[in-house]
Amino acid sequence: MNAGGFAPALVLNADFRPLNYFPLSLWSWQDAIKAVFLERVTIISEYDEVIASPSLQMNLPSVIALNEYVPQRRNPAFTRFNVFLRDRFSCQYCGQSFSASELTFDHVTPRSKGGRTNWTNVVAACSPCNLRKGNKLPRQCNMHPLAEPRAPNVWQLQENGRAFPPNYLHESWRDYLYWDSELQSED
Ligand SMILES: [Zn+2]
Repeated sequence: MNAGGFAPALVLNADFRPLNYFPLSLWSWQDAIKAVFLERVTIISEYDEVIASPSLQMNLPSVIALNEYVPQRRNPAFTRFNVFLRDRFSCQYCGQSFSASELTFDHVTPRSKGGRTNWTNVVAACSPCNLRKGNKLPRQCNMHPLAEPRAPNVWQLQENGRAFPPNYLHESWRDYLYWDSELQSED
């Protein structure tokens, strides 16, 4: 078989929403085709590229949907990355945007003052702000998080994930991703 290049399939749940937004649910063309033959997925859209073997010729799938609905986890894991995603990769003190590698994890109420490590006491912060805040309470240094930190639900994280499209975006995926700003303006 020969199928040049990178041709991942966007994987949708049985309700035609992406299985995951961040990272975006993508399968290699090999995995996608295997799943088609196992009848686990339905092909929704195809690439122009064709794979051919002596017995078979088919277009590579660009969008596939699971035949059986996979329930989504309702409570996102409390991870460093999910905190950054909740805070939209912006420092909760100065409001500037950063990449995940440039952000730090700040305890609003410092641990030394009894602050817990959980969704309601941890926010994303850039290094200069984190350093400036140090071991002080928000009122002691007049540094308050821009948004009150709360535990997000999966839906909120997915919404935020939509704002960060992957490097590779095939046109056939757009109908299922709606990254258009007009459609996002409701919230
Ligand atoms: Zn900052």
